[in-house]
Amino acid sequence: MKFAAIARTTPMYKVIVIGSGCAGSTAAIYAARASLEPLVIEGLEAGGQLTLTTDVENYPGFPEGIMGPDLVDRMKQQAQRFGATYRHGAVTRADLSSRPFKLWIGDEQLETQTLIIASGASARWLGLPSEQALVGHGVSSCATCDGFFFRGQPVTVIGGGDSAMEEALFLTKFATEVTIVHRREEFRASKIMLDRARANEKISWITNATVTEVADPAAKAVTGLRLRSTVNGKEWDHKTSALFLAIGHVPNTDVFKGQLDLDKQGYIVSQGGARTNIPGVFHAGDVEDRVYRQAITAAGAGCKAAIEAERLLEAEG
Ligand code: NAP
Repeated sequence: MKFAAIARTTPMYKVIVIGSGCAGSTAAIYAARASLEPLVIEGLEAGGQLTLTTDVENYPGFPEGIMGPDLVDRMKQQAQRFGATYRHGAVTRADLSSRPFKLWIGDEQLETQTLIIASGASARWLGLPSEQALVGHGVSSCATCDGFFFRGQPVTVIGGGDSAMEEALFLTKFATEVTIVHRREEFRASKIMLDRARANEKISWITNATVTEVADPAAKAVTGLRLRSTVNGKEWDHKTSALFLAIGHVPNTDVFKGQLDLDKQGYIVSQGGARTNIPGVFHAGDVEDRVYRQAITAAGAGCKAAIEAERLLEAEG
């Protein structure tokens, strides 16, 4: 029996956007309006970090505030309206050595003339074995996702930035007491967020302390923390039913290591505008921005990246 040969073609795009947060979807809106029919690969955390927040009060145009997941969903709808395609999955391998660039989602291969990397950053963990053993059993990096499970119980938040304040304030809706543990005396959080947290009677504070152990992996539940003073090294136990990490983020650039210029922490090194060291590969949002990291700056960066991709393609005819 003879079989007809099946032609195998690798889909070729003008623009692929990696990431579907504010940066990725804004890039998709601009690229789609320029008739570039972008493909957006949503990533493991579709919608990005805004899907883990509640009220966004500082995104211009929403005087009453808007829920984070609602904001990114609207951006996605806007991009789809102009012809952007969204697909589930995460890029597992990339070959940026020549154009068209090659990407893989598992076994599936895609090719693209230009690439916009808007893969964002993911929550940082302490890195303790006991912490990792209890992820999903009382250890979490998302109060919005998991706070509800600790209704009527005492919980602890680690960190001294805006995220820690926001998570702690959110958790006061459920918990009997929220303790913020921070490794220094001074806080990185903005004054408005710090003042709000300080004014909340349910929040208590432990400064100059780090976590050395999370109890109790054997019980498959968080029962307490071992804390160590950063001043005199003394250790003590702190009873709590949950541990929420709010200690910053690490950029999602693993698949580009050895190909793109990254700094020591893995952030993309910008060559100005949205350009990376590889012509045709652009960056947008938290994957490069270690300074501002706001929804509005990520959206602005997505816009820049799409305009640069469009101009490059136009210049090349
Ligand atoms: P961040 O500002 O980088 O703060 C991270 C905090 O975690 C710092 O206080 C840091 O301590 C602490 N930390 C880092 N590694 C640690 C470790 N291994 N052990 C213990 N503590 C550790 O991160 P973020 O709070 O996620 O905020 C990121 C950006 O998003 C900021 O620009 C922030 O303004 C913005 N944001 C805004 C809002 C809002 O306006 N509603 C809400 C959330 C976030 P040190 O201070 O000692 O370094």
